[in-house]
Amino acid sequence: MYNVINLPYPYYALEPIIDEKTVNIHYNKHHKKYMENLNKLTNYIMPLEEIPKRINEFPIKDRGDILYNAGGILNHNLYWQSLNPNSALPKGKLLNKINETYGNFNNFKNEFITKSKKLVGSGYTFLVTDNDGNLSIINMANQETPLSYNLTPLFTIDLWEHAYYLKYQNNKNTYIENIWNKTNFDHASRIYQSLF
Ligand code: MN
Repeated sequence: MYNVINLPYPYYALEPIIDEKTVNIHYNKHHKKYMENLNKLTNYIMPLEEIPKRINEFPIKDRGDILYNAGGILNHNLYWQSLNPNSALPKGKLLNKINETYGNFNNFKNEFITKSKKLVGSGYTFLVTDNDGNLSIINMANQETPLSYNLTPLFTIDLWEHAYYLKYQNNKNTYIENIWNKTNFDHASRIYQSLF
C-alpha cells in the first residue's frame, strides 16, 4: 500500500504563518485523499518515486489518474519536509551550489518568491536539480512532479488555495512571502549531499 509521510511536527507548529486548522485539513483531507485514490487505482508494484518515471508500466486507461495521485502524495511529502517551526538555511554542497548559481541565499530566495508569484492557477514552485547538479527554480501545474522531467525535486512550496486560503484569503502573495519564516532546507541539503 502506498502511504504519505508522517507529518514531521504538530498541526500547530507552523503558527502563526500557517494556522493549525489549515495544516490539519491540508494533511488529513487533501494529502491523504491522494493516497486513498492511488491505492484504489493500483496495488503497490513499485516505490512511489518510481511511478512518474515508469508510468508506462501501468494500464493506459489509468495512467493519468495514477500519475496525478502519485504526484499529489510526493509533492505534499516534500512540502511538509520543506517547512519546520525551526527554520534552517541550506548547508554543505547545496549551500555552495546556491551561492555559485544565485550569488547568495537571499538572491535565491527572492528569485524563488518572484517565480511563485508568477504561477497561474494551482501548482507548486520547486527547487530542482538535474543529473549534473545544476539547480533550477521551476513552477509545475496541479500535481505534476519534476520527476517526470528527469529532475530531482529538493524543496517546494504548495501554491494551491487550500494551502493558505483560511488565513490569507485572496492575499496569496502574503502567504508566498511569510512562509519563508518557516522554511527549512535540512531535507533539501541531505538529498543534494547524497546525490553529488
Ligand atoms: Mn496541497
